[in-house]
Amino acid sequence: MYDVLFAPSRGKYVGKKPKVECLLCAIRDKNPEVWTRRIYDDDKVMVIMNIFPYSPGHVQVIPNRHVEDLNGLSDNELEYTLDFVQRTTDFVKKIMRADGFNIGINLGKSGASIKHIHVQIVPRYEKIPNMGQEEIHKIYLENAALLKNKIEIEETKKDCECLNKKNYVLKKNPFVYLYEKPYNRGHVVVSPENHVNDINQLSASELLRLFKEVINAKNAIENIYHPVGFNIGMNIGNIPNAPEHLQLHVVPRYDPETGFMEVIGDTRVVVESLEQSYEKIKTKYV
Ligand SMILES: [Zn+2]
Ligand SMILES: [Zn+2]
Repeated sequence: MYDVLFAPSRGKYVGKKPKVECLLCAIRDKNPEVWTRRIYDDDKVMVIMNIFPYSPGHVQVIPNRHVEDLNGLSDNELEYTLDFVQRTTDFVKKIMRADGFNIGINLGKSGASIKHIHVQIVPRYEKIPNMGQEEIHKIYLENAALLKNKIEIEETKKDCECLNKKNYVLKKNPFVYLYEKPYNRGHVVVSPENHVNDINQLSASELLRLFKEVINAKNAIENIYHPVGFNIGMNIGNIPNAPEHLQLHVVPRYDPETGFMEVIGDTRVVVESLEQSYEKIKTKYV
């Protein structure tokens, strides 16, 4: 059965349009009409709390420049943003004592209500802490100096046994393959060759290379399937659905895509077999 995360505060938000052209640009520019719970900012990124959180401590890392697709970020911007995703995840883990994280980006028509790219960092807990937004913000601010220091990454070289068993492999180094239980046709996974289960075990250059492959995969799937959007994300830590070997999912979204089989039958209908998808993608994947 699928996992349900009750997030009642989001009910106030869903369907509401901000009055400014871009809410995140307005927050970046410190527009007094837009209220936010800011944690950190500099000339390249900002870290803010999600006002309507999925879970206590939910934050987002946002590149300052208004970019709507990952292709629009320069290597420097991407590397800087990823560095802050690592720092922020480490920060939230320490302060909120999170057991794990869902980290993701929605692009296009895929559940995103704000086009300006933002990386959602959703802490997950075995026991959800009973803390209000104001209290969490106060503790985040008291400790915000921790975000200024680059975290020490323990670069581990761990030989991997599991990737050799994967089918429908599109590329090695980084590893790209079709996900065996796809949400949609064209659902691919990017994994580092190194057997790690957390982004905070990857050096800056490894993480950059991994994400550039995610962008490459997204572009390839876009050219083949013309989806209306993408969900890009990963599950890490001690939570359900977190794999032993880090997986970055690239999931194309189509419109419309759910019917009674999904909603009531709890069964995802994918209109193409893995063999068919593999045939379509493999010759075009570089
Ligand atoms: Zn913007
Ligand atoms: Zn492995």
